[in-house]
Amino acid sequence: MSCKQQLVILGATGSIGISTLDVVERNQDKFEVFALTAGSNAKSMAQLCITHQPEFAVMATTDAAKQLNQYLAGSDCKTIIRSGAEVMAELAAHPRVDAVMSAIVGAAGLMPTLSAVEAGKKVLLANKESLVMSGQLFIDKVKEHKATLLPIDSEHNAIFQCLPSALQGSQNNTKLAQHGVSKILLTGSGGPFLNRDIDTLAAVTVAEAVAHPNWSMGQKISVDSATMMNKGLEFIEAKWLFNCQASDIEVVIHPQSIIHSMVQYQDGSVLAQMGNPDMRTPIAHALAYPERISAGVKPLNFSQIADFTFTKPDFMRYPNLQLAMTACEAGQGATTTVNAANEVAVAAFLKGEIAFTDIYRVNAHTLDATANVNVHTLDEILACDQLAREQAVQQIRKVQR
Ligand code: NAD
Ligand code: MG
Repeated sequence: MSCKQQLVILGATGSIGISTLDVVERNQDKFEVFALTAGSNAKSMAQLCITHQPEFAVMATTDAAKQLNQYLAGSDCKTIIRSGAEVMAELAAHPRVDAVMSAIVGAAGLMPTLSAVEAGKKVLLANKESLVMSGQLFIDKVKEHKATLLPIDSEHNAIFQCLPSALQGSQNNTKLAQHGVSKILLTGSGGPFLNRDIDTLAAVTVAEAVAHPNWSMGQKISVDSATMMNKGLEFIEAKWLFNCQASDIEVVIHPQSIIHSMVQYQDGSVLAQMGNPDMRTPIAHALAYPERISAGVKPLNFSQIADFTFTKPDFMRYPNLQLAMTACEAGQGATTTVNAANEVAVAAFLKGEIAFTDIYRVNAHTLDATANVNVHTLDEILACDQLAREQAVQQIRKVQR
């Protein structure tokens, strides 16, 4: 039996998946890849299998699994190839697995992530959409099954690091104020359109929207960063991860992305976590927690930081941020709806079907058009998500006219 941590990486071919494998490669004495999963990119999965030799590789569809088989035919790779969301969920709960990196993009990440939670695993959560979508249910399951939930999102990882160590890991069970915390300061760069004339936002191209100034990420989260829906989803994520109210969280624009978020204490102290914007830092932190390992990240050089600035977000520029914050106060039905509508709207924008500014219109109209009843059970959450997707498709048709 190996004493190395056995890992499942959900979304292995994505930006977070690749960064995770990079950190794993640098720390081969500590981690071993048990299973890798991906959507449709069989070619890049084949390369990962050859390099990392996982026991299992799971593709979302049987077609993609067949392709992977063809790519690996003739190689000496012994990886067992399988397909489907159920298999991903099954492997995320496998008795031999210690930690699961949840890095599928969007709602597709929910079921395998919940499966890891229900098996009491150490869950490294990058897939914020699953928590936004299911909120209380997710957190209740973490408590019930004694799973360890460690945030990968750089802001939430920063906040986690700035919390009193006594609170780290049990922050869902106590009130932050009891530990002297007065506020969470959630920072965001403002994305590529921080200084662009608002009147020209309707003409933004896909290439412009996905060109983030500081971070290299997948397409969906890059668009979300440009609209700042990403910060809105993170606002909701923070509420669940740190057991706080919307009024405990403040969004601060910090264009340089050096500070990754802060915690303010009652005595006036503000603790910040800093570093170069490289996701391998939060990934390494969570993989090794509570120890520290090397991540391959360039050390921060303060003499090279020309500007270090902070402003308030402008909701005229970022209406999606306000929408998500409003939904956060309204409750689970609203947050599940906004998350689903946004996924559909961003996909439509990426396909060139709607304008950049239509993403907000689709999201807002979908929220208006649905009842936003409070949802609690998994069936209710999935039904709410499905209804919002259908409504968003109708709203897309309307804005296209
Ligand atoms: P990405 O698009 O680069 O990768 C997504 C991964 O999910 C790929 O491996 C893809 O094959 C897989 N996938 C897509 N659809 C799937 C499906 N239906 N079934 C199974 N697998 C599927 O995305 P990313 O940038 O790596 O982001 C992943 C998650 O991490 C997102 O939830 C994002 O919000 C979050 N996150 C990313 C970053 C970042 O820097 N990239 C930072 C913070 C949080
Ligand atoms: Mg983030």
